[in-house]
Amino acid sequence: MHLCVNCCFSCLANAPVVLSSTAEDWEIEVRISTKGETDGDKNPQKSPLSGDAVYKELSKINGNINQMSKAAVISKLRELKLNTEGSTEILRKRLKNHYRKQKLTNANLLTVSKLFPYYVIVDFEATCEEVNAPNYPHEIIEFPAVLVDTEKQKVLDHFQAYCRPVLNPTLSDFCVELTGITQDQVESASLFPEVLANFEAWLAKHKLGTKHKYAVVTDGPWDMGRFLYGQCKISEISYPQFGKKWVNIRKVFSNFYRCKRLAPTWDHFHTIVPVEQTNITSQGQQFCLKLMLEHIEMIFEGRPHCGLDDARNIARILLHMVKDGASIQYNERIHLTSRDAKNIQNAANRICHNCDSPERTVMPILSSDQNRTAAQVRREVRKWESRRVKLSDEDTDEENRQVLDT
Ligand code: AMP
Ligand code: MG
Repeated sequence: MHLCVNCCFSCLANAPVVLSSTAEDWEIEVRISTKGETDGDKNPQKSPLSGDAVYKELSKINGNINQMSKAAVISKLRELKLNTEGSTEILRKRLKNHYRKQKLTNANLLTVSKLFPYYVIVDFEATCEEVNAPNYPHEIIEFPAVLVDTEKQKVLDHFQAYCRPVLNPTLSDFCVELTGITQDQVESASLFPEVLANFEAWLAKHKLGTKHKYAVVTDGPWDMGRFLYGQCKISEISYPQFGKKWVNIRKVFSNFYRCKRLAPTWDHFHTIVPVEQTNITSQGQQFCLKLMLEHIEMIFEGRPHCGLDDARNIARILLHMVKDGASIQYNERIHLTSRDAKNIQNAANRICHNCDSPERTVMPILSSDQNRTAAQVRREVRKWESRRVKLSDEDTDEENRQVLDT
């Protein structure tokens, strides 16, 4: 098939998109071969164009789309029965992605897992002070989760439980005001280990991790790297399986929509730098959530810092990205060895060096880390942030193959 790029792409619009699926799981598979490689040996009849030719065509199509007015892009999207909401930038991205999928599929360049069939969005709320001391032992006080079905493109269920803190059983006025969680709610709640068991029973009820594949999603690295890890230490229980790898939606979002890194991350996350810089502020997650929502022309629904509402809004962002054709895969995981607990610097040296790995490793944050100086932390942050890794959540056009995992 010859693909013309100067028509309004109707030749492409009619090309089939092949999605692979299994009986139990629904997954879109995407693999981008290396430049020039076409899998021609395996399926010669399915590779009408070489990798080079396909990427050249795609580049021309992208150029044409960049010249189209917003109205023209909307009209094309409507014709293709695609979502017509969003800024010009988002609409163009959607149209480009549509043709990209079709061309790469047609050239047999698309083949590997792109979406999980289910996502579980988690957003912990924790005890806090207005200014958190560097070694403040945050305890989880709200454990919310939202289950998203990718195929049906909707929220299926949610889990919510409050937890009773033990180290700081009385919530600060600031914490009550920030999260909306009352002293009565936490006093009548179960301790964290019981809530965790209930959450795991909820996962099991939905056959998540058994019959169905799923991935946990958070906004930022600290729900797992800080709150869950710290809470397990406090409760003296082992770190749960579900929190070992997760999707940091913020990274997927900024890569997919090509917007700058969305919010303070490491400085926001680390408690080691001077207190005034380490305080988890509303400039953190809420700022980022708000920015992501604004970028896709949505507004926050519910109460900010209510864990369940935060998770629901993250679910809305995720669903929007699914509709826009984003690839949403694990991109962070935690290191869990006793050495990590003793020596964070050693652990930092073991951070994913393998460029084939799509994940960034998040170092658990321990109160013992306070011995490090602010300058040491900044050096580590710079080192980590300057590493090049190949992202799994990248919308991997040839020209965008290498992206800084900032
Ligand atoms: P979030 O998911 O943004 O609601 O934040 C999770 C947790 O981080 C909260 O439950 C607090 O423990 C802490 N946190 C968030 N924002 C602040 C803030 N402005 N000051 C102190 N702690 C905060
Ligand atoms: Mg929250």
